[in-house]
Amino acid sequence: MSWRATVLTLFPEMFPGPLGGSLAGRGLERGLWSLEARNIRDAATDRHRTVDDTPFGGGAGMVMRPDVVDAAVAAAMPEGDTRPLVFLTPRGTPLRQSLVRDLVAGPGVVLLCGRYEGVDQRVVEARGMIEVSVGDYVLSGGELAAMVLLDSCVRLIPGVMGASESAEEESFSDGLLEYPHYTRPADWRGLRVPEVLLSGHHGQVAAWRRAQAEAVTRARRPDLLSPQLHGAAQPA
Ligand code: SAM
Repeated sequence: MSWRATVLTLFPEMFPGPLGGSLAGRGLERGLWSLEARNIRDAATDRHRTVDDTPFGGGAGMVMRPDVVDAAVAAAMPEGDTRPLVFLTPRGTPLRQSLVRDLVAGPGVVLLCGRYEGVDQRVVEARGMIEVSVGDYVLSGGELAAMVLLDSCVRLIPGVMGASESAEEESFSDGLLEYPHYTRPADWRGLRVPEVLLSGHHGQVAAWRRAQAEAVTRARRPDLLSPQLHGAAQPA
């Protein structure tokens, strides 16, 4: 069976959105993965289809109710559904390539998109959700975050990327950022491509690329080189 993604959202009409185009979209059409967007509001039981309420302890905004979210999860994940349940939240651990690889190796994923101030923490914990953030900034909802996570997963599904694209040498594949790329013309506005890339010497090209990858990682993301020193989780 193909890799299966289910998104729980108050805005199912946002999907597939950008996931319907390019590599991910072609994979979807070819049945290499499937996507179902379910409206959390369908799990509400009152006349007004209420999904949120005011926060205990006071403060601005609204919080998504645990009973409604739990019913939405139950409807999306029948008994025996072993897919991991991920809640997109800025409070989560940062999304890394290692998690992406783990998710792709499994049967698929169920994603919960928050809105308003977020989701009642009790259902997040009771359902054993994996809390994942796509970066240190606040989006207005989890939908774009879910699309980011799905795009990063789907491109690794066998057959989605053609032979011309490869995930083997790209950023994070070996814990480093990638080396810089160059193409024709070799001289553009007087700016020459590094000579070693024109040499045809594979060993020297590989060594140069490795040195470039290490240098850019040291300069921009030293946390990837020594995560313990920076208090970060294990690198990809
Ligand atoms: N009050 C929350 C906080 O300060 O952590 C922010 C809530 S945000 C306006 C609404 C929803 O957007 C969140 O519940 C989450 O689902 C999603 N969201 C916002 N930023 C995100 C991020 N960086 N990563 C993943 N999801 C995010």
